[in-house]
Amino acid sequence: MRQCLRCCLAELVVLAMSVPSVFSAGDLPGYTDGPFLPNSRWRVHDQSRPQPKKVAPGEGFLGATPPEDAVVLFDGTNLNAWRRSDGKPIGDGIAEGAFNIRKTGQIQTKEEFGDCQLHLEWCTPTGPEDRMNWGNSGVHLFGCFEIQILESYASFIYADGNAGAIYGQFPPLVNPAEKPGKWQSFDIVFTAPRFEGEKMMSPAYVTVVYNGVVVQNHQEILGAIAHRTLPGAYPVRERGPVLLQEHHSGVQFRNIWIRPLE
Ligand code: MG
Repeated sequence: MRQCLRCCLAELVVLAMSVPSVFSAGDLPGYTDGPFLPNSRWRVHDQSRPQPKKVAPGEGFLGATPPEDAVVLFDGTNLNAWRRSDGKPIGDGIAEGAFNIRKTGQIQTKEEFGDCQLHLEWCTPTGPEDRMNWGNSGVHLFGCFEIQILESYASFIYADGNAGAIYGQFPPLVNPAEKPGKWQSFDIVFTAPRFEGEKMMSPAYVTVVYNGVVVQNHQEILGAIAHRTLPGAYPVRERGPVLLQEHHSGVQFRNIWIRPLE
């Protein structure tokens, strides 16, 4: 019995060392006073919205090489397809086939896209960092709809802010996060909104496969990214850039390619 207890304690120590966890389940992040989302019982960043169930991903979701008709956005060597969102030169952040968004600064593609299929791989710092910021980045489709990137294995925030969420709108259906420091993947299919003049004829939709697991299933996007307020109005346009958010955390990216679906 004593031996067993010693084994258990040793395992716990190893677990604690390998997975930094600085938050307890009773410590609920989020808000109780946000506006209700349209046609929803949940408020923006609702503290009581259930956390997505954890699902251990399988294997084989990394390393997808670009198909023949893909536009390669980052192959490990250069960021020629990108520019800084603030107009400054891109920082020197490439090392070992990946780049660090904290060093490059927030970047967006020079080319703009409507309907598209996007593959990218990302890795959060081993941390721990401040909860609201640990591994915080994001993929902004159409320049304005955020698929959240955040450390969501050892930590968590409000349900609509975890990795794979349409930020501030829809939590991921489940949480297939890998440990911080491990590479993860998004495969995204995006349908751009359609307009006739200023009038929207059909909304934007997104399907997100996170580490090989569907976490958004042809989900209608309610509006542009917002924090603690209702989603913003859609921008009236046909195409927008893919933007990678810089949020003061050294999230790394690699193997990024896109297929326009037009
Ligand atoms: Mg973010």
